[in-house]
Amino acid sequence: MNAQTGPSLPTYADVEAAAGRLKGIAHHTPAMSSATANRRTQASLVFKPENLQRMGAFKFRGGYNAIASLSPEQKKAGVVTYSSGNHAQAIAYAGQLLGVPTTIIMPNDAPAAKVAATEGYGGQVVRYDRYKENRLEIGNKLSAERGLTIIPPYDHPDVIAGQGTATKELIEDAGPLDILLVPLGGGGLLAGALLAAKALNPGCRVFGVEPEAGNDGQQSLRKGEIVAIGVPKTIADGAQTAFLGDLTFPIIQREVEDIVTVSDAALVDAMRFFAERMKLVVEPTGCLAAAAAFSGAVPVEGKRVGIILSGGNVDLASFARFIAPSA
Ligand SMILES: *Cc1c(COP(=O)(O)O)cnc(C)c1O
Repeated sequence: MNAQTGPSLPTYADVEAAAGRLKGIAHHTPAMSSATANRRTQASLVFKPENLQRMGAFKFRGGYNAIASLSPEQKKAGVVTYSSGNHAQAIAYAGQLLGVPTTIIMPNDAPAAKVAATEGYGGQVVRYDRYKENRLEIGNKLSAERGLTIIPPYDHPDVIAGQGTATKELIEDAGPLDILLVPLGGGGLLAGALLAAKALNPGCRVFGVEPEAGNDGQQSLRKGEIVAIGVPKTIADGAQTAFLGDLTFPIIQREVEDIVTVSDAALVDAMRFFAERMKLVVEPTGCLAAAAAFSGAVPVEGKRVGIILSGGNVDLASFARFIAPSA
């Protein structure tokens, strides 16, 4: 890392190094299929259920990889991060496993289950109002005052590399794919997926999938520069990011096939499908990629399609409301 120019973009070699650090620690989640889903889409779908990952989302991969890569001095001082939820839990849990103290800046309206889980993993939670305050400023202040290393939720080379291990496993387990569909918030998961897919399966066309209300990634791709939007109102709380990162955007811009959007209604439809047919609890954000296949936002007929189910952390009351048959 260079203080003047910032970190350079991660590469597939960094994904391989991350896979080495995560071996025997992160779950190697299965590659799953569903005859019903295949019939419904006239495609061959392979799901990567990261809702079954440790702490319930792929973010464990990037969080653990980032903390494990710190120097002994940095580990001793501790880390700070900001997150709408899953990255917070990932950092808290990885910190606990690695014996590194963690401070987590979380919005006041973060889902109760995510706050409780973060504290349960030993993270010290600091709350803020995400419609009024800037979480980056709060993080910088804590970092300066207490010597903590900031590990942002997506715009960090070790985070991106860690997230890429999910796609590495999927392609190694499932074989070559025609299409890979990836949920998109700030782009750590998608950038990592692109590094792995382009190295292992160059012919695979990789799409990012955003909530309709928060299509800043799509706008950024069209415009050729990072476009920031207001905090989008969507049930996909893990993708309520307002802008892509300085590291994630160039990778996405270079490699992605396209970025598409899906409605909240399509997310609910997918949540019901996973609960009913595949016996999987997938959170709204975790359904983005699947919803793109089910809704036709990305045409998949006749293709072999990888679909990342990115997480399953949804509190039960919300889950029950989402999957309840509409009256
Ligand atoms: C964070 C998150 C995303 C988006 O990941 P980015 O790296 O921010 O693009 C998608 N799904 C879930 C479940 C998440 O927690």
